[in-house]
Amino acid sequence: MDATFPADPRATETFEKVFGCAPQWGARVPGRVNVIGEHIDYNDGTVLPAAINRYLTVLAAPSEGSDELLVKSDLFPEGARLNLADIPSAQDLEPRWMRYVLGVVAGYQRLGVYVPGMQVWVESTIPVGSGLSSSAALEVAFATLFESASGKSLAPKQKALLCQRAEQEFAGVPCGIMDQFACVLSQKDHFLDIDCRTLEVAHIPFSDPDVTLLIANTGVSHDLATSEYAKRKRDCELALRRLGRTSWRAVTADILASASGLLEESLYRRARHVVTEIERAQTAVDAVRERSWEELGELMDASHQSLAEDYEVSCAELDHMVATGREIGLAGGVYGGRMTGGGFGGSTVWLIRTEAAETIMNRMDEGFEKRTGHVAELFVTRPMRGAQTLTFPETTAS
Ligand code: ADP
Ligand code: MG
Repeated sequence: MDATFPADPRATETFEKVFGCAPQWGARVPGRVNVIGEHIDYNDGTVLPAAINRYLTVLAAPSEGSDELLVKSDLFPEGARLNLADIPSAQDLEPRWMRYVLGVVAGYQRLGVYVPGMQVWVESTIPVGSGLSSSAALEVAFATLFESASGKSLAPKQKALLCQRAEQEFAGVPCGIMDQFACVLSQKDHFLDIDCRTLEVAHIPFSDPDVTLLIANTGVSHDLATSEYAKRKRDCELALRRLGRTSWRAVTADILASASGLLEESLYRRARHVVTEIERAQTAVDAVRERSWEELGELMDASHQSLAEDYEVSCAELDHMVATGREIGLAGGVYGGRMTGGGFGGSTVWLIRTEAAETIMNRMDEGFEKRTGHVAELFVTRPMRGAQTLTFPETTAS
């Protein structure tokens, strides 16, 4: 059973305006930011995300006697429909965002869980396509909704895996497990340490009030992102085969260095990112446990450099943001920071001194638009809890 949270009366009011009835079920699911361990969730590494204080919320009411799922979203007010009694294949479904929902429906139906006809309102404060995982939040929100409506709940990890499969098979994104795990399993004031090889998780306390996470979204998304992601994934599979191993966890820096002749130069650099990032992510967990913020900052800095130079998934706007953060430096309250998410745009994540947040945000914002033509979006967050079921005043009272 998920934790519960009272529905925002303003969202309930919107629902009533849109559908002319009161919502009966609801969920809110946070986005996430990955502190360190980038592009290694699909390479057997460990990653360290935290849920953030931006949420995707769904509210729903049953459509009596109907097998239709009618979804309206603040982003896409024209809405979308799905016949639950005869679901289409993903490539036949428009609009595209509804494919994520279809994937979740199909996942529950496959398990024999009955998803009833309903009207759903979606609203979200998670920036879309910014590496903060609005897509996983959408999937997990619908999964949570279907579990409330059907009265059948999966174990949390199973629910996350169902959502990952929805994204892979129905939205066509070859994603790892990090986003869905973070959206489901995160706990307040903890980073989520996920071992992507074994799927084991540990909750690492991050509750020192003197340090905070800052997210600086460049507001840029380059078309390259999807195709290059798939390319990196294929490159890593190829490099691993050439190295004669079945898991990147078995490849140390020494093994890689001695096998450099097996890989052409760019493939070698991809491999070097994977091997060094796996090590950084593991060291970072110890740094967080020991509250060694300077060390964690340095690891984040090194991660960015590796992503930019060896893995080549950064871009000018991300690098500009990172350069500004470096200029502010420790003296100005910045321990370290890096691009986060798939890359080619999206967001950067920073470990900063809480008291300096305002000044740091002003400095990062200053001149960014003039320099890049994009408006940056900056906010601080503490690690939040994952998916929650919404309660409504009537249900709370009973
Ligand atoms: P990210 O997960 O980093 O935000 P993705 O490209 O993985 O970026 O996912 C973004 C997609 O998720 C959108 O293009 C849309 O299809 C879907 N999505 C996200 N938020 C919403 C929303 N509020 N309503 C409808 N679809 C959404
Ligand atoms: Mg996504």
